[in-house]
Amino acid sequence: MGHMSLNKTLKNTYDAIVIGSGISGGYAAMELCTKGYKTLVLERGRMVTHGEYPTAQKDIWDLPNQNVVSYEEKERDYFQQNRLNWWVHQENKHWINKDSDYSYDEVKRFDWIRGHHVGGRSIMWGRHCYRWSDLDFEANKKERIGVDWPIRYKDIQPWYDKVETFVGVSGQAEGLAQVPDGKFLKPFPLNCAEQYFREEVAKVYPERVVTPGRVANLSEYKPEVHKGLRGQCQSRNRCWRGCPFGAYFSSVSATLPVARDTGNLTIRANSIVSEIIYDKHSKKASSVKIIDTETKEEIEIFARIIFCNASTVGTTAILLNSRSESFPNGLGNRSGELGHNMMDHHYGMGAFGKVPGFEDTYYKGRKPVGFYIPRFRNINKNTKNEAYLRGFGYQGEISRAKNNPDELYGEDLKNAIFKPGAYWLSMAAFGEILPNHENKMFLNFDKKDKYGIPTITFDAQLRDNEMKMRQDAVKCAIEMLNAAGCENIGSYNSETAPGACIHEMGTARMGRDKKTSVLNKWNQMHDVLNVFVTDGACMTSSGTQNPSITYMALTARAVDYADKQIKAGKL
Ligand SMILES: Cc1cc2nc3c(=O)[nH]c(=O)nc-3n(C[C@H](O)[C@H](O)[C@H](O)COP(=O)(O)OP(=O)(O)OC[C@H]3O[C@@H](n4cnc5c(N)ncnc54)[C@H](O)[C@@H]3O)c2cc1C
Ligand code: SF4
Repeated sequence: MGHMSLNKTLKNTYDAIVIGSGISGGYAAMELCTKGYKTLVLERGRMVTHGEYPTAQKDIWDLPNQNVVSYEEKERDYFQQNRLNWWVHQENKHWINKDSDYSYDEVKRFDWIRGHHVGGRSIMWGRHCYRWSDLDFEANKKERIGVDWPIRYKDIQPWYDKVETFVGVSGQAEGLAQVPDGKFLKPFPLNCAEQYFREEVAKVYPERVVTPGRVANLSEYKPEVHKGLRGQCQSRNRCWRGCPFGAYFSSVSATLPVARDTGNLTIRANSIVSEIIYDKHSKKASSVKIIDTETKEEIEIFARIIFCNASTVGTTAILLNSRSESFPNGLGNRSGELGHNMMDHHYGMGAFGKVPGFEDTYYKGRKPVGFYIPRFRNINKNTKNEAYLRGFGYQGEISRAKNNPDELYGEDLKNAIFKPGAYWLSMAAFGEILPNHENKMFLNFDKKDKYGIPTITFDAQLRDNEMKMRQDAVKCAIEMLNAAGCENIGSYNSETAPGACIHEMGTARMGRDKKTSVLNKWNQMHDVLNVFVTDGACMTSSGTQNPSITYMALTARAVDYADKQIKAGKL
């Protein structure tokens, strides 16, 4: 960028730099600051502090156009992110990156859903938190898929304990080996129809457990943990607008305030990291280069350790753009795996139906989660489906619909709509995607964005294993609706593009061998020891569980390791 001056001053020096302030970056910042490191968080988007949630207290009628974003605006600003047509509304569009500002190319369709502001997607996430187990950590090795995870459940288990306690995860213990129990706050209980569904399914399929979704919403306030910073969930169901009570976990409500209170935190918003600079003499990263989006100035900032938490795709793009004589294909990319093995969960398949009975109860919505059915396929000999490897879980809910009969008019219709409608169930499967070298993202060095940074291209797709699994996921959903005596059962299998499940991961994977992986078992680059990647890029396989709690556990573990290495004089 010839017109920009490079502001290179040693005043710009910190103990640690964290790139990105979303779920994993917020956690890294809190852990580093708490351990006494002067930490700079670099965030490409605008500043947001807790409480700055412009639509949180608005009702539908207070929002423009009754919460609907016009077709023209969606086509102009959200032409890639709105393709599933459920995501962009007046209540939350300020949390969604505009494709017109920052778009990407696709060899095959990829729905890259982003939020560029302090807090990242921790503000809009669905808050589901499920532990991984050795079924997940051992699968690649047993099935000779991708590379072996360099860790097992016992390595991460204490970090799940620590992180869940801070985050506040509500849930019900079920004693399942495949999705282990955690440090739970009391669950948001199943409603009467969901409880009935749980019991009827268990009678026919004892291995299929319908449990309250495990979510990062404070069902209980614990003064010793939440210290007046956060409050109990009011079940308003408006979480993705931002919660004024701080009742669900986000970087702005939880981790960044704790980091700030240590006095060690600096947040620099409107700062896009374009690359990490490698110093071949020390064999370490010396600094990062940022572009200030307001002044367009290019600035170099130095630190002893660097945590990459710009999200799977953001981090991978930075590393691919960090080219030097020592690393011509991107920082730490001697294996050639950087940008490859892109995974997500595949979804867009499930079933729905009318649940009979319960006419004398009146229950509708207003709890921040429905039910979850953990993976039950291919977990042991009795649950084997030979057609495919791995499995899927479901998220769903049962709620009372409006009574709005088609054939009535006038007064008859008016009388009818005052009576509650039937209970309806809907459930959607989240399936595992296998790591595959051919599923990838890469940079287009000939096509730059408005800041002069190379743009991203995606080339990933669902393959045979996923396609076979989808059919089984639909079949199993219908079986469970039948087991509960549901009526008007319908199902769908509308293949979605990778990215659409918003669990993209795997493009800088952990592994035991530096020839086939980018990171070691501490999320540390094999070849650049002061650079850590603890967002979804590090994942070696995708599991079926929503992944963010695992990113946080790995982050806390990696900071602890980095701290010990520094204290031992090794870093
Ligand atoms: C609607 C929705 C529902 C979801 N539901 C769930 C769920 O139920 N459970 C679950 O586990 N996950 C869920 N997710 C996914 C979850 O949000 C992500 O897994 C998680 O936020 C990833 O954390 P991260 O730290 O890697 O990235 P993010 O939270 O995306 O944060 C990355 C940050 O880095 C910044 N950044 C990017 N590039 C740069 C750069 N070059 N320089 C500086 N800063 C940069 C971004 O602006 C952003 O603030 C959901 C996501 C959405 C959108
Ligand atoms: S449901 Fe709970 S966490 Fe969500 S917005 Fe309401 S009070 Fe906040």
